[in-house]
Amino acid sequence: MAEKLCAVKGMNDIFAPESAHWEWLEAKVRDLMMRYAYRNVRTPIVEPTGLFVRGLGEVTDIVEKEMYSFEDRLNGEQLTLRPEATAGVVRAVIEHNQLYDGPKRLYYMGPMFRHERPQRGRYRQFHQVGAEALGFAGPDVDAELIVMAADLWAELGLSDVTLEINSLGQPAERLAHRQALIAYLEQHADQLDEDAKRRLYSNPLRILDTKNPAMQALVEAAPKLMDYLGPESLAHFEGLRRLLDAQGIAYRINPRLVRGMDYYNLTVFEFVTTSLGAQGTVCAGGRYDGLIAQIGGKPAPAVGWALGVERILELLKAQGLLPQPPVPDCYAIVPQTEGQERVMQTLRALRRAGLSVQMHAGGPDGQGSMKSQFKKADASGARYALIFGESELAAGQVAVKPLRADAQGGLTEQSLLPLDGAEAWAARLR
Ligand code: ATP
Ligand code: MG
Repeated sequence: MAEKLCAVKGMNDIFAPESAHWEWLEAKVRDLMMRYAYRNVRTPIVEPTGLFVRGLGEVTDIVEKEMYSFEDRLNGEQLTLRPEATAGVVRAVIEHNQLYDGPKRLYYMGPMFRHERPQRGRYRQFHQVGAEALGFAGPDVDAELIVMAADLWAELGLSDVTLEINSLGQPAERLAHRQALIAYLEQHADQLDEDAKRRLYSNPLRILDTKNPAMQALVEAAPKLMDYLGPESLAHFEGLRRLLDAQGIAYRINPRLVRGMDYYNLTVFEFVTTSLGAQGTVCAGGRYDGLIAQIGGKPAPAVGWALGVERILELLKAQGLLPQPPVPDCYAIVPQTEGQERVMQTLRALRRAGLSVQMHAGGPDGQGSMKSQFKKADASGARYALIFGESELAAGQVAVKPLRADAQGGLTEQSLLPLDGAEAWAARLR
């Protein structure tokens, strides 16, 4: 036998029943986006590497060490599997002049790629749902996005998801804070770990985000960005808080909340849970007013978030909220191949009428015994067996047998029903 081939480490295959959970969640998301009037956008999974270097920032974790980058063998172009989708969405919006007739509310879902150490809740191919509002400057749309995410948790039935917010202010305010922060950290250089030393001058804000217990006291007492914000930034933050308060959205102000990408300003937020161990952030986002100009577009404000699909599904599972996987309404038992044309016509009519019907299909040894077909019908979870026996077919009929006591409504005992006009009785089997 040829050598077995395996998926790339940290990248997952998803089969039923889990894939049904994915589809269920995706449908919930689509419905929510529709009600908030966010429109779907689909952008390529591969982008020019320069987009992320320019968009996310050269000294971010993602660009420094997590990107899957490669050279196009045919033309030498530097390409990258998208590690996130905001930069690509912004590129697309600029390229297609999408803001010419006013602001846009967009959403996407799909795979992202980051070369991280795989562990629970952290994969190399993972999936995000993201929402972006481009062209809106006020805190009202920040609040809208946050409330929309909170509504999703509520509609999914999730508990133990809490909101943390912060403001990163504007670049000039960050610069003043950065200088104070570097001076403070330099004074305590002996307490810095390797990571912090490396970031001291490149990305000191990120040090505040450290998970190292030995550094908690140090970062707790560090200069707070909030104290460097001017009146406009503070007004934006207060505006957001007022709107969240009015919607009854609880939050904690976390002055150390910073984000992994350089492009954020003003509002940043995360939804976190204690139920998933170390990978507790299920959704994160913020304002990125500078990104559109940075990628070459006409300056325009923007804000968005992205949620981790695997983490949300994990949380749903932990809280017992995943739906039962779907089962067919009917399993068609086909003892012989004669008359299959008629059988398949009938099944098609039932499916057109909205029923889910699984047809028994033959194997290398023929159709198999009635007994084995009934076993398969049972295992399928179907509520009815449709028995297309020779005598039934000869009489232009099918025998319909309830397989489950819980067949709510519908047929309760075995009945003979006509092959012609099956759509007329399909509804009785729903
Ligand atoms: P983390 O701090 O967990 O690395 P991040 O700040 O890198 O997260 P974002 O880039 O903001 O994450 O992505 C938004 C969301 O996508 C995260 O909150 C998380 O739920 C999910 N996510 C990020 N990276 C991964 C990954 N490697 N595997 C699974 N989900 C991920
Ligand atoms: Mg990360």
